[in-house]
Amino acid sequence: MATIIDGAAIAATIRAEIKDEVARLKAEHGVTPGLATVLVGDNPASATYVRNKRKACAEVGIASFGYELPAHTTQDELMRLVHELGARDDVHGILVQLPLPAHLDEQAILSAVPLHKDVDGFNPVNLGLLGVKGRRPPFAPCTPQGCIELLDRSGIRIAGRRAVVLGRSAIVGLPVALMLLARDATVTICHSQTPNLASITRTADILIAAIGKPRFVTGDMVKAGVVVIDVGINRVTDAGDPRRARLVGDVDFDEVSESAAAITPVPGGVGPMTIAMLLRNTLVAARRRAAEQKTSEAA
Ligand code: NDP
Repeated sequence: MATIIDGAAIAATIRAEIKDEVARLKAEHGVTPGLATVLVGDNPASATYVRNKRKACAEVGIASFGYELPAHTTQDELMRLVHELGARDDVHGILVQLPLPAHLDEQAILSAVPLHKDVDGFNPVNLGLLGVKGRRPPFAPCTPQGCIELLDRSGIRIAGRRAVVLGRSAIVGLPVALMLLARDATVTICHSQTPNLASITRTADILIAAIGKPRFVTGDMVKAGVVVIDVGINRVTDAGDPRRARLVGDVDFDEVSESAAAITPVPGGVGPMTIAMLLRNTLVAARRRAAEQKTSEAA
């Protein structure tokens, strides 16, 4: 039976570390890390995500500034807000909650987030830098970073291993593949047009599933001893009763855990890590700013 990688416990440890670091930054430099969250429209899931992120900020002593804009907000209005936040000294990180309403140009907005405040890591320049050998972007996106952190904190070697990533989205699949590559794994990326998927997944030492299909990866698709990171979050109603809806991953946990060496559960795996990485990126942004201020004062 597989070892269960307890993302909730690992994330709790990281949040406690961040809380200590935030207190130290305040005591030593008088700087309180600040995160601005921008929510456009009335998507209830997005509102919940933002609420959870702001609550997590409060718990570790990070200030959060919430901006809630109506669905009919124009590109210019949103751009103006992002520029204002970019110029503010008390805002170290800017998070624009996705998806934006369809009439807004998401890529243009994400590109307007200054790189040193891009704590979500979604500015296309930051994403692109992930793929440049020898370069590190100021910030890596949170969910992929959470996957790598889970491997690291579980003592799982990445270098030299064969990694297979299911999914090539800009927010999970592609960046996590680039991060594994930067850590010297040999990486294969699969997507909806990949033929003979199981023949590829069976070669994986490390398998990352990020496709959004409930229990897609079955026991016969993995080899014995694989390490599985399940990013998927899918709501299913097993008994056809909507009141009994529950969350499952992209991996059939019961089947795959029979032969895997280690596996993340859903919920309680990658999910809690995403917010922990956002908090850490915001702390890092504030720490870098404090160091710059110290240097400029000394000059
Ligand atoms: P997207 O829908 O943007 O991307 C899904 C990817 O999976 C695409 O690349 C798609 O291929 C590929 N795919 C779809 N069907 C198949 C298939 N049958 N075989 C192989 N590949 C397939 O999803 P996201 O990347 O945004 O999210 C993936 C999952 O991760 C979702 O369940 C989401 O809820 C979850 N998630 C969890 C987070 C967390 O904090 N734990 C954060 C973000 C996402 P193609 O490109 O060809 O269409």
